[in-house]
Amino acid sequence: MRVHNSLIELVGDTPLLRLNKVTAGLAPTVLAKVEYFNPGGSVKDRIALRMIEDAEKRGLLKPGGTIVEPTSGNTGVGLAIVAADKGYRCVFVCPDKVGTDKLAVLRAYGAEVVVCPTTVAPDHPDSYYSVSDRLAASIPGAWKPDQYTNRNNPESHYQSTGPEIWEQTDGRITHFVAGIGTGGTITGAGRYLKEVSGGAVKVIGADPEGSVYSGGTGRPYLVEGVGEDIWPETYDPDVCDEVIAVSDKESFLMTRQLAKDETLLVGGSCGLAVVAALRVAATAGPDDVIVVLLPDGGRGYLGKIFNDEWMADYGFLSAETEEATAGDVL
Ligand code: PMP
Repeated sequence: MRVHNSLIELVGDTPLLRLNKVTAGLAPTVLAKVEYFNPGGSVKDRIALRMIEDAEKRGLLKPGGTIVEPTSGNTGVGLAIVAADKGYRCVFVCPDKVGTDKLAVLRAYGAEVVVCPTTVAPDHPDSYYSVSDRLAASIPGAWKPDQYTNRNNPESHYQSTGPEIWEQTDGRITHFVAGIGTGGTITGAGRYLKEVSGGAVKVIGADPEGSVYSGGTGRPYLVEGVGEDIWPETYDPDVCDEVIAVSDKESFLMTRQLAKDETLLVGGSCGLAVVAALRVAATAGPDDVIVVLLPDGGRGYLGKIFNDEWMADYGFLSAETEEATAGDVL
């Protein structure tokens, strides 16, 4: 029988898909590593699995233990899935700006969610950093993965994402493009690809305009999951040959185009990474093979990126460019 014994066996081994339409007029091959095929729907399943299994090996997480992490997004889902599979309790601490759907997903997997006010300073006792520290210290058997300092975050990509891309392209990859959030993906996969190719693979980071990785001040932007206002330990800037800044508008318009043209319903950081990959492609040759990593699916963004009114409110969409009228449909 061709069966899997546990959902966590399905983490990784995601497909590479050729981008055919958004690449029109460009010479190189552009391939997307589609991470929404992971069981929790994002690239973060990889780090969740490795962080938990390493904590088990080192005795930090024991049977009956509790995982405490300040996260509301993809890392929370990854941790919740692996925890549910292995029988750990999960407590996630989330800021109150997080949408109810995201909290519902975490609760559906059996996680407990503590919601904290966004309006207080990080060192305030009610901030979500303070609350998660307090819970981790007071719950017996609690362990905090901390994806921003945990070296198993980049290591999971060094061990899985990087080697998969190398094998899938038969060693023909010339450029690797990925967004930078914690920096785990680009640091781990980028380092592996550089090492295995003897330095031939170029590694290019994609960053929202305003974030520190591309020289910004940390000013706000709307693309989720990427960019920072601090430099986390999990990011090694030496791995990147270049970091390309991409605006919210370009990222979101490309995200919508990926759904329509490539039938890839993906998140905003995927649009951001593809914009950067196409800029790289514009100056690369016909033998070049550019791999761009797409971190998650688009269903979590239906109310924002795929909502015309939301897009228009931010000035990303003018009514006449996108809205089909009754006359067009009839
Ligand atoms: N996109 C999304 C949607 C994410 O959740 C993340 C993870 N924060 C990233 C991109 C960036 O990945 P990394 O943290 O490995 O840099």
